[in-house]
Amino acid sequence: MTRRLFLRNSLIFASSSFFISSEHSRASSKASLVEKETRKYPSYLELEEKGILSQRIEELNSIYESCHLCPRNCRVNRIKDEKGKCNSTAKVKVSSAFPHFGEEAPLVGKRGSGTIFFSNCGLRCVFCQNWKINIEGEGVEISDERLADMMIRLQKMGCHNVNLVTPSHYVPNIVNALQKAIRKGLHIPLVYNTAPYETLETLQLLDGIIDIYLPDFKFMDPENAAKYSGEAYNYPYFAKIAIKEMHRQVGVLQVNRQRIAVRGLIIRHLVLPNNIAGTDKFLKFVAENLPKTTYLNIMRQYRPEYKAFEYPKLSRRLKRSEYIKALQLANKYGLNRLDS
Ligand code: SF4
Repeated sequence: MTRRLFLRNSLIFASSSFFISSEHSRASSKASLVEKETRKYPSYLELEEKGILSQRIEELNSIYESCHLCPRNCRVNRIKDEKGKCNSTAKVKVSSAFPHFGEEAPLVGKRGSGTIFFSNCGLRCVFCQNWKINIEGEGVEISDERLADMMIRLQKMGCHNVNLVTPSHYVPNIVNALQKAIRKGLHIPLVYNTAPYETLETLQLLDGIIDIYLPDFKFMDPENAAKYSGEAYNYPYFAKIAIKEMHRQVGVLQVNRQRIAVRGLIIRHLVLPNNIAGTDKFLKFVAENLPKTTYLNIMRQYRPEYKAFEYPKLSRRLKRSEYIKALQLANKYGLNRLDS
């Protein structure tokens, strides 16, 4: 983390009604579809008005008693502080929160995307770029009330959205905090920034709560998913279903007159060396299952981190030729809304 980001993070933590000690805070193609003016955003306001949000919170909390929030299906009682593969109890843990200017342009706008980085992760990739947070669990346990205050603080700072980074294992806390934040005046959309190692059940409980889905699709091949992401053989199966469900809920990306995202799907795909991610198959999958106008960010910034050096095929940066091939394939499949 740069010194600038560190200072920003500290500012948010220290200036809210809660306080987290400083040692813990270290821790397009151009968007072209404009929102329909008649639609009310963000959608969660309507769910709260109708009393549906409270029901969802209850349902989600009950999942914690025998946790199957994600496909790991650990069945531990997180309310009793038992931990599954994600190494998390039912108390939400946060590493940092700050306006982020490095996300996709429709999320960042002029005032940034209000990122909240959650600690731990159920997937545990050997090349994780945020391994101190996601694997080692750097961060601080906070109450849902404080998480709500964090969302409000990001909104007050002018952020265009609340960007929930690696949220899957804390969905019950997040939705509970959302309701508290709505009652304090939250009115910017939630971005669900995920692996996306998700179950259909959890995603369906988020229907109408999340306006912008930001899945980062990792592998098409079960063997590679198992080898590089903690035995997650079922990753491709669940991630493909998840992306289709996300699209069903929010559709293609819509932006407002200022070209800021208000609702929709943004897919990320990190191209890995030696086609470990199965980029060719993934782009074909997108072309065959989603509209050609799906917003797609094909990322080239892979660098070996964490344990990647122990795996020869992952122990180098991406070649320029590998990235260009990915772009050519996207073009071949007619995908015409690439991030640039
Ligand atoms: S969220 Fe954590 S405890 Fe629950 S199923 Fe997933 S990895 Fe297991």
